[in-house]
Amino acid sequence: MGIVVVGSLNMDLVVRVARHPVPGETLLGSDYESYFGGKGANQAVAAQRMGGKVRMIGRVGNDGFGERIKTHLKAQGINVNATICINAPTGVAFISVDKAGQNVIIVSPGANSRLKPENLSPIEFEHTAVVMLQLEVPLDTVRRAARIGRESGARVILNAAPALPLSPADLALFDILVVNESEAQAYSGLAVDSPESGIEAARKLRQHCPTVIVTLGAQGAVWASAEGEGYQSAFEVRAVDTTAAGDAFMGALAVSLSEGRSLERAIRLGAAAGALAVTRPGAQTSLPTRLEVEAFLSERSA
Ligand code: AMP
Repeated sequence: MGIVVVGSLNMDLVVRVARHPVPGETLLGSDYESYFGGKGANQAVAAQRMGGKVRMIGRVGNDGFGERIKTHLKAQGINVNATICINAPTGVAFISVDKAGQNVIIVSPGANSRLKPENLSPIEFEHTAVVMLQLEVPLDTVRRAARIGRESGARVILNAAPALPLSPADLALFDILVVNESEAQAYSGLAVDSPESGIEAARKLRQHCPTVIVTLGAQGAVWASAEGEGYQSAFEVRAVDTTAAGDAFMGALAVSLSEGRSLERAIRLGAAAGALAVTRPGAQTSLPTRLEVEAFLSERSA
């Protein structure tokens, strides 16, 4: 049983800086580097590297970037039959990374914003264990993907990033909601900066969505579900670039759940994948393989 990702595909243009500029300020950075990105594509690659059978549904542009992205995903073994090149600019993310590995990102959605609900076909969701969604394509499209996913018997996971106004009825469309600190705060209205406050936010959001996971960067992750609540501490690593930690977490979580593992096991695998991702630069380039994650886990539990 496979994993379907309905989401964004971008080119990431990355510049390193000593510190981020303040509004109105100009700073010199390094030569820029280009990486494949977009939360949808990143999570598709993350799941594929973790051993998942992945189909990516999305839109890219006819500006050169689009074909490059499709060729790249196909070469990784991802099914891109429903990732279509259209007459629009490809989504681009402008990313700066400071000395501490913290990033600042501006996204130009381009073709991603043209993925419409009517572009989704139930046939593409057959034989699917998990549907993985984010909020970098139009919300109506995300809603329809969730409904089709549920009707076809899949477990539907929303990584509700970036934070958008979602109604309780929207949150009820998903089986699992995954949010980071700032998103948890935006959706719950509670201040979230620790495992304790994370679990409070998860409890509150569980009034609408049955399972809620709050990721807390170097503080790990907490979850609340019908089976109970829990905390997974972060694995200690040297962070060089936090880009795509959340995407690595999502890919590992989805694959683990598609294999029938418990939520707790899936979150542990996610935390290990997230920790490995922050030790490397870039987005998709930093996503670990299943072998790397299993080796890391057995090393850390030895
Ligand atoms: P985030 O989206 O930043 O909350 O990251 C997702 C997951 O990756 C977290 O729940 C952690 O398990 C892991 N992670 C993120 N940043 C770090 C870090 N600096 N050190 C270790 N693990 C991390």
